[in-house]
Amino acid sequence: MAFPIALVLYLLYLVVNGTGQQGSGPRFLFIVLFLLGIVLHELIHGAVFAAFAKDKWRAVRFGIHWPTLTPYCSCVEALSLPKYVLICAMPTIIFGLLPYFIGLAFGLSTLAYFGLLFIFAGGGDAYILWMIRKERQGLILDHPYLVGCVVFSPKLSDSCSTPVPAGQRSDVNLN
Ligand SMILES: [Zn+2]
Repeated sequence: MAFPIALVLYLLYLVVNGTGQQGSGPRFLFIVLFLLGIVLHELIHGAVFAAFAKDKWRAVRFGIHWPTLTPYCSCVEALSLPKYVLICAMPTIIFGLLPYFIGLAFGLSTLAYFGLLFIFAGGGDAYILWMIRKERQGLILDHPYLVGCVVFSPKLSDSCSTPVPAGQRSDVNLN
């Protein structure tokens, strides 16, 4: 997690001090927007979690991992890969890719910078997506207190002492 955080801080420094222009008003606003964006980033994770979880918002947990100062959002219910992908990617799409490409298309550098920061801030999410990319049949459960998740794969039954015929592997239900 340290890598994306370092990149975000580096970019933030560039935004605040890098251009050499005077006046801190708009930059202060930018930082406030960025901090607000971090909170909204977690809230979007939570909203998509709540939309998919049977227990809705009651299944969603928010907190801060203090050693890395990383805010997190997790869900106590296991979800299928497509749902988990949406949960992971949504904040980066809304706060990262969307503003970045709008900024790119219309030459709005502040908006593009803003998007870029949130693309880097989503580095941890992107890393998780990369790690679970092949778990099409699995159920994904957030780790209760570490950044990351646990995958329940139906393939696990292969390691049982009694082999389970492929057609009868019903130990994991996808719904
Ligand atoms: Zn995230």
